[in-house]
Amino acid sequence: MKNVRPSALSPETAPDFVAGCPFCIIDQDRTTIIGDYPWSRAILSNPRLAPGHLLLIPKRHVELLSQLDEKELQELVSLIISYQQKIVCGLTPGCDLRQNYHPFEPQGEVKVDHLHVHLIPRSLDDKLYTDAQMYEEDLFQTVPAQEKERFINFYRRLGSECV
Ligand SMILES: [Zn+2]
Repeated sequence: MKNVRPSALSPETAPDFVAGCPFCIIDQDRTTIIGDYPWSRAILSNPRLAPGHLLLIPKRHVELLSQLDEKELQELVSLIISYQQKIVCGLTPGCDLRQNYHPFEPQGEVKVDHLHVHLIPRSLDDKLYTDAQMYEEDLFQTVPAQEKERFINFYRRLGSECV
């Protein structure tokens, strides 16, 4: 990756584990491990947003996808694909894929800094839809011309924003 702070983002400088991080050392009494792979784990999210809510977690403590090395990233993406297939073929007609990076929020029971990808089985009548997503239509806004210009300029200069 070009023009990225190596001290913050390279795989070599990410710590292997962080004391007190619930995803570095998994509490097997509280956590249901679905799969254990060379570089990552799949666990049931608890608390969960929907039945079957799954988390895919690299074993090494990183906070951003860009901090994963090639083998970790390859395994994570391939697990995302296969678990998403499993969900939409055998559980629900839809599946949300989510990875939040919120360094502005304090770590707590629900928010963990250690990188993880949410796979959330979805259907039209699930609680997420009835409680939240039905209002999403109001949140979508037409993009004004000036804003469009700003983001064309921003995103086409990919890779230069962390310097
Ligand atoms: Zn961790």
